[in-house]
Amino acid sequence: MSYAQHVMDDLKQKYASEPVFLQAVQEVLMTLQPALDKDPKYQQHKILERIVEPERIIGFRVEWVDDKGEIQVNRGFRVQYNSALGPYKGGLRFHPSVNLGILKFLGFEQIFKNSLTGLAIGGAKGGSDFDPKGKSDIEVMRFCQAFMNELYRHVGATIDVPAGDIGVGGREVGYLFGQYKKLTKSYEGVLTGKNVLFGGSLARTEATGYGNVYFAQHMMQGRGDSLEGKTCVVSGAGNVATYCCEKLYHIGAKPVTVSDSRGMIYDADGIKVDVLKQVKEVERASLTRYAELVPGAKYTPVSEYPAGRNVVWNVPCDAAFPCATQNELNLEDAKALLANGCKCVSEGANMPSTLEAVHAFLESGICYGPSKAANAGGVATSQLEMAQNASMQKWDFATVDNKLQGIMGNIYANAFETAKDFGQPNNLVLGANIAGFRKVADAMIAQGVC
Ligand code: NDP
Repeated sequence: MSYAQHVMDDLKQKYASEPVFLQAVQEVLMTLQPALDKDPKYQQHKILERIVEPERIIGFRVEWVDDKGEIQVNRGFRVQYNSALGPYKGGLRFHPSVNLGILKFLGFEQIFKNSLTGLAIGGAKGGSDFDPKGKSDIEVMRFCQAFMNELYRHVGATIDVPAGDIGVGGREVGYLFGQYKKLTKSYEGVLTGKNVLFGGSLARTEATGYGNVYFAQHMMQGRGDSLEGKTCVVSGAGNVATYCCEKLYHIGAKPVTVSDSRGMIYDADGIKVDVLKQVKEVERASLTRYAELVPGAKYTPVSEYPAGRNVVWNVPCDAAFPCATQNELNLEDAKALLANGCKCVSEGANMPSTLEAVHAFLESGICYGPSKAANAGGVATSQLEMAQNASMQKWDFATVDNKLQGIMGNIYANAFETAKDFGQPNNLVLGANIAGFRKVADAMIAQGVC
């Protein structure tokens, strides 16, 4: 039995109740074996056994009072996964589905993604089962303050720097930052994704979505093609999806779908990004509102989806950008995309495709950009925010965007070249995993058993 399989089997026994965590680890470990065979030092130093276990898991109670005066209790977590390459870095997710297994999957992915950026950042993730949906601004503020009342003990500008994720945008980061400052009397870059008024970086809001499109463009150009003139489907309607749509227009492509947890929009003329921002960022409404504002757009509620499917993936397209959540694209969806002629899938969300769907994409030979490479632009730009905060500088939009483009180009080249070295040039899953892994593993070996 291979080393990777042995570690995986052991993990399956220990963490049977954390299926998405096991899925994320499996996807990585099963591609690492060629690198492990090539260099026995990783097994000698028990790197896999060590890297799959978080350095630290912090769990805490979050209690707060809602607008009716009732006490509410939520669970809070921070998984500080790996600090071999730098301070812990990774977002906070506020969503009712959040549990430790989901945060471990996200934190584990974050280690390799952060390594791929080439920047000095370790991997972490955190969050809560709090649901910001339907809460007043004041309730969200009270919750964020209560969450930070515990989290502040464990984070800091050179210790652990959280950012946003699902349910955590500029508003939440602002409230979290305000409470950190009050508790510690320290005005420091402890969070990224901040408002530009108090240390936020220009282009951070756009970075994950823009970066995903830059990555997809590199994949297409690597095949002598381009996204220009292409019809694209996008899932999600939040931060990543919105700026993915915006950048697609910039490069001459046309996004025709977006979706949220209640339904999807098909707009054959192209998604109106200004309307999407108004609906999601200003009104915080559902996509039915988009259909009201854009009469030609077709809205399909989730209740009309075939069981287990997201109908976004049935829309004929040249390129697909899953930007909502994990496991939102299964084997059936992958088959529908391929049958309709899709040539490129670039993941904005974390692990949006099931393992079976990933295999279908790899076997088909289309361009497939796994999330830890394709969506790394967000965390990379967070690191640029940290650099600006530490040096008390403020870069203009073009400076940050140029650096982001450079980083996405480097990630693509690194994943592609590594995959080529191992004889599978178009397998960016293998390339990204091995390239990300080797840096972290070599740093762990150099830092000793500690
Ligand atoms: P947002 O909260 O801004 O948006 C999430 C979107 O996905 C919303 O439209 C939401 O719908 C939809 N969604 C969430 N859960 C589900 C679900 N279970 N089923 C269907 N739709 C769902 O989050 P982000 O855009 O920031 O994050 C999206 C993805 O990108 C996540 O996987 C995240 O981990 C990943 N990511 C984000 C980064 C960032 O910088 N923000 C960086 C790297 C990765 P609704 O509004 O109805 O809830």
